[in-house]
Amino acid sequence: MRLEARNLSVSIAGKKILSHVDLSFSEGRRTAIIGPNGAGKSTLLRSLASLFTDYEGDVLLGGINVKSIGRKQAARLLAILPQSTQAPPDITVRRLVDYGRFPYRGMFTSSNPKEDREAVEWALSVTRLTDFQHRQVISLSGGERQRAWIAMALAQRPKILLLDEPTTYLDIAHQLEVMQIIRQVNENYGMTVIMVLHDINHALQYADEIVVIKDHGIYGQGAPREVLTVEMLAQVFGVRADVFTNSQGISVLSPISIVRSCS
Ligand code: ADP
Ligand code: MG
Repeated sequence: MRLEARNLSVSIAGKKILSHVDLSFSEGRRTAIIGPNGAGKSTLLRSLASLFTDYEGDVLLGGINVKSIGRKQAARLLAILPQSTQAPPDITVRRLVDYGRFPYRGMFTSSNPKEDREAVEWALSVTRLTDFQHRQVISLSGGERQRAWIAMALAQRPKILLLDEPTTYLDIAHQLEVMQIIRQVNENYGMTVIMVLHDINHALQYADEIVVIKDHGIYGQGAPREVLTVEMLAQVFGVRADVFTNSQGISVLSPISIVRSCS
């Protein structure tokens, strides 16, 4: 199922955020969206997920305008983990993950309790939270909590998973843990992944397609090694960097200094 943005423009309070953006996300890929703070990455992701709808242009899901698809129907196809999340107090991990089943429920009833239970248990297992399911979300560590939110999105059983800076505030090991779970759901279950990443090296390691946002539009798009270059870092982030190949054969960018201040 292809997700597309066609001629997407967003202005908020008279300020241009995105201008005439055309993007197409093929099924089964892991795309990383990168760009400076304030470039419009979250706005783009939220527009793609219908969390933000006050845009011009169209978002198409499987060729159909998302605005003509019902909210619940769209949520069966696409789930988003926003940049900031806040769980209600006194909620258990299992209950949070179970909220992911809302697209499959009526006002008071579950259409298929067995399917709901299986989806929740699958999501807990993929995020290795089965043993934590009865814990309060507020009692979890940062890494565990982020996995719980990912589990909630997975319980929707979406075809497309959108994540906005899923590793922010996590230490290095927990960052890798989250990135590995994301790769696993993509590789093992064919879920399309579109993620805003702030770490360029994570984008190099975990994405197979890169979109760079700058000056309200697409600066570049393509394979990680072609897009994530020393020249791009200078032009988009204003940073001078070296590039190395690590022991795994993966390119690693190492920032050295600021070449100019970014607007
Ligand atoms: P990014 O995720 O790339 O850091 P955002 O999409 O969050 O960027 O924001 C892009 C720009 O839009 C920023 O300048 C931000 O201040 C502005 N913006 C986003 N949402 C709002 C809002 N609700 N009200 C006013 N300005 C906003
Ligand atoms: Mg953002």
